[in-house]
Amino acid sequence: MTTETKCTNSVTGRILVIDDSISVRRLLKARLGNEGLELLEAIDGPTGLKAAKEQSPDVILLDLSMPGMDGFQVLRQLKDDESTGNIPVLVLSGMQTPQDKVAAFDLGAIDFISKPFDLTELRARVRSALRLSELLQMLSQRAQIDGLTGLYNRAHYDRRWSEELAGSKRHDRPISLAIIDLDHFKSVNDTFGHPAGDTVIKGLGALLLEHSRESDVACRYGGEEFVLILPDTAPADGVAQCERIREALGKMTWARHPERKITCSIGIAGASAGTTLSAAEIMEAADKLLYQAKQGGRNRVVHVDLSPDALAKAG
Ligand code: GH3
Ligand code: MG
Ligand code: MG
Repeated sequence: MTTETKCTNSVTGRILVIDDSISVRRLLKARLGNEGLELLEAIDGPTGLKAAKEQSPDVILLDLSMPGMDGFQVLRQLKDDESTGNIPVLVLSGMQTPQDKVAAFDLGAIDFISKPFDLTELRARVRSALRLSELLQMLSQRAQIDGLTGLYNRAHYDRRWSEELAGSKRHDRPISLAIIDLDHFKSVNDTFGHPAGDTVIKGLGALLLEHSRESDVACRYGGEEFVLILPDTAPADGVAQCERIREALGKMTWARHPERKITCSIGIAGASAGTTLSAAEIMEAADKLLYQAKQGGRNRVVHVDLSPDALAKAG
């Protein structure tokens, strides 16, 4: 009981208040601000939408009747935007016909608080929304994590690779993608058993993290195949990093089969500058190179630079 009470009171978070009334904003700031909650303020709909996108608050308190863009419009836009759609919105309003309430809930509000509001009740509802926000964030994070390795999973990779590539095109920065596949892994499973195979998969996952920079994104693509997104890295530089991974894996000794070394093959495709290729095209190129690495005898790294300049030089 004590722990629960403590937990409840120690909820922290950032609250964005979108309300044209300065007295409401002041009151909320004074009363919520002194219990560990950070209050951000917006005086109208457009400012509120911008703040929601840029500051990613944990919870939004939204007034319905505001001059210009009203709260319903703001709510609709918040929910339509991927970056703000999951932020719990509590509507705070003097409009309180059943139709208004139903419309707000239908648009995705999680709570409706009538003005004038009781501060104790408002605080309790805000804390409850913050707990919901925390759970939603945890769930969405877990849904993108591979259970065996703790790396990002395929779902995360699919979205992230496109985003990182788009970012690198926007700023004309280099980018590379490495596909890493364990060699003769089926025979590891067949000879030493599935749990031994799992240990190898975990080991390679840990190695990828160890040899990654903060901005790199290591994912388990599926089975014994991994992908490494390397932003700001030309393919030739990615090779150096992947060679280190390949060598480190080859040197590891495995408790369950000390006599059997494990190797991997790696295909890297990317562009040092100016690519117009799609995420799928670069992925396909990396996959072809992985196949070449396998054909060439495994335990090796093969790469290509797909930037227009590099391709022209290669003829
Ligand atoms: P290659 O060198 O050509 O890549 O050969 P390979 O044996 O590694 O490739 P293949 O695709 O034939 O076999 C992959 C094996 O990986 C088969 C599958 O049982 C195993 N595998 C996939 N996922 C897991 C897993 O989560 N745990 C374990 N232990 N094995 C897995
Ligand atoms: Mg394999
Ligand atoms: Mg494979």
